[in-house]
Amino acid sequence: MVAGMAAAPDLSGIVAATPAQRRAAVDAAYLPPLLPALVALTGDLTLLRDEFRPDPDLIREEQGGLTAEQQDGIRTLAAGVLDELAAGTRAPAPLDPDAYAPLLAHVVGAPIPDDYLPLVREELGGGADGVDLRTPDWTVAEVAPERRLRVVIVGAGMSGILAAHRFVQLGAEVTVFEKNDDVGGTWLENTYPGCRVDVSNHFYSYSFVQKPDWPLHFSSRDVLLDYFRQCADDFGIRDRIRFRTEVTSATWDDGDGVWRLAIRGEAGDAELEADVVISAVGQLNQPRYPDVPGRDTFAGPSFHSARWDPTVDLDGRRLVVIGTGASAAQFIPVVADRAASTTIVQRTAPWFIPTPDYHEEVPEPLRWLFEHVPGANQWHRFWLFWRSAEGLLPYAAVDTDWDGGERSVSAANEEIRALLQMYLDVVFAERPDLLEQCTPDYPPLAKRFIRDNGAWPATLQRDDVDLVSGTVAAIRPDGVELADGTHLPAEVIIYGTGFRASEFLTPMTVTGRDGVDLHEQWAGDARAHLGVAMPNFPNFFALYGPNTNIVVNGSIIFFTEAEVHLVTELCRLLLTEDKRSIEVRADAHDTYNAEIDERNLAMAWGASSVSSWYKAASGRVAQNWPGSLLEFWQRTREPERDAYILR
Ligand code: NAP
Repeated sequence: MVAGMAAAPDLSGIVAATPAQRRAAVDAAYLPPLLPALVALTGDLTLLRDEFRPDPDLIREEQGGLTAEQQDGIRTLAAGVLDELAAGTRAPAPLDPDAYAPLLAHVVGAPIPDDYLPLVREELGGGADGVDLRTPDWTVAEVAPERRLRVVIVGAGMSGILAAHRFVQLGAEVTVFEKNDDVGGTWLENTYPGCRVDVSNHFYSYSFVQKPDWPLHFSSRDVLLDYFRQCADDFGIRDRIRFRTEVTSATWDDGDGVWRLAIRGEAGDAELEADVVISAVGQLNQPRYPDVPGRDTFAGPSFHSARWDPTVDLDGRRLVVIGTGASAAQFIPVVADRAASTTIVQRTAPWFIPTPDYHEEVPEPLRWLFEHVPGANQWHRFWLFWRSAEGLLPYAAVDTDWDGGERSVSAANEEIRALLQMYLDVVFAERPDLLEQCTPDYPPLAKRFIRDNGAWPATLQRDDVDLVSGTVAAIRPDGVELADGTHLPAEVIIYGTGFRASEFLTPMTVTGRDGVDLHEQWAGDARAHLGVAMPNFPNFFALYGPNTNIVVNGSIIFFTEAEVHLVTELCRLLLTEDKRSIEVRADAHDTYNAEIDERNLAMAWGASSVSSWYKAASGRVAQNWPGSLLEFWQRTREPERDAYILR
């Protein structure tokens, strides 16, 4: 059953609204998913008129490239359907999700493989009315009534909250350790001004806790923190979380088939036993500072974007910011307003993707549509899933016959480059110097796009802002020195220099079978099977582990839901086969990683030599998943039994 598509969909909001309100809602709507949502609600496939189908090559555009005439036609048709539903002259007749293929084709503009149907059913199915098609279909008590399943989860951010919820649903004994004093992970720790999500919230949310009333398309950090806090409350997991407590080490005891954990918290040090350990510590929380001399010698205040120091008064100060990544691009426009001068050190120019609604509130009529037209929010989510992630993947694939060097990796990639370049040409039309500095010299999608609503170019063109291209060579007591000898005087330095992302699970010590240390096994080049399991580490699973990141701007929550499902299924195997331990086979793990490495080299982020946090020190892409979201979902549905050793 699909959320909002229940046997008797709730039409009370539609009935209560005035015709003008309904019309305002369709006027505010994103149109590619609107008619499919109404077809899903009414069962009336005649609404899917070919003349209203978006052009699949223009799906990136705000209204999927629909002409003004097409848009008018869709709005009139949709408003008419809502009016008929309100008047009772049209009855809802929810379409069977098995018949969604033409609806999906309409949103996307062209047919997509039927393989997507079960995935979409899950993605659309949860949310607004509390339906959760991803609830585990088993419990510990059912499959192993004699067994306990003691699960320790490390971290209470987005991944840890979800894992705790699922394992509580399974009836496991769940304990979560969280070093901070609240849930929220990255959204708790990053307090820098301007911090917000760069994936639309209607996609960046748990599939089963969709929120039709997001206030902004891209919520600020506070709103997201509230969302995750609320989820933790609603899932009833808070009492399972031990805050201000770190797991310092985890050691596998092969004799007893358990993990022995060392805990450090307010009450001092302690030890604990667990059957299963799940690391949900995130990738982006250990600040990376430039590896240059003199950082400690700086005379003024300095801090990293993820360790924002609100006590430092930036008003009227001479500021140097190092970095032009996703975090810097968010806080620089804000701090530049306060500082006397802002000098930005740029090592690599980012590609910006124009996003006019980046800071905009969701207009009230659109919120009404999402809240009151059953399914509208979910179909909008599918549209975002396609246009911001799945549908963009082919643009990152390397065409070996394409001779684009560091410019582009295929004709399609070159097409994206032209669009992004056009944006730069427009916003820097008056500043050829900035245009040159801000034009990246690597293919689009080799690094994550940064969203921009015009704030970035406007900031760079301020009289009190300087963009300096270069690499930091040293920090001096009075400023920053670049490799070419340029000295940048500073009263305050802010490091927008990212994270030690490839140092997974730092600083926890994890010791597996036969005393193998996880970080030694990885030797600076972390690998896992499906991002989750490592050989020699029985009953130990990672979330947001190696090669589970996405470059095209999809939602990491999608991956986490898939990973948590896989981990629950691995535990099911453990219990149903009545074994003490489950561990990925080394050969299965190695074959998988060889495949992932090869495929990453065939994507823009692996083929380009540009520096990025996706690569480990060895140059191997340790972060990214090279395939589609569909493929990751499919491969995490059921454990490949042969890939695991159960003892
Ligand atoms: P980042 O993307 O790694 O950016 C770090 C910046 O610092 C880059 O411009 C980098 O240059 C520069 N840098 C590093 N060391 C340097 C040095 N020694 N000298 C000069 N420049 C140096 O880090 P981030 O901005 O914190 O973002 C990391 C990831 O977090 C993002 O990709 C995204 O996935 C996530 N994030 C998301 C959001 C959001 O959703 N809103 C916000 C922030 C972050 P190079 O490019 O040359 O390496």
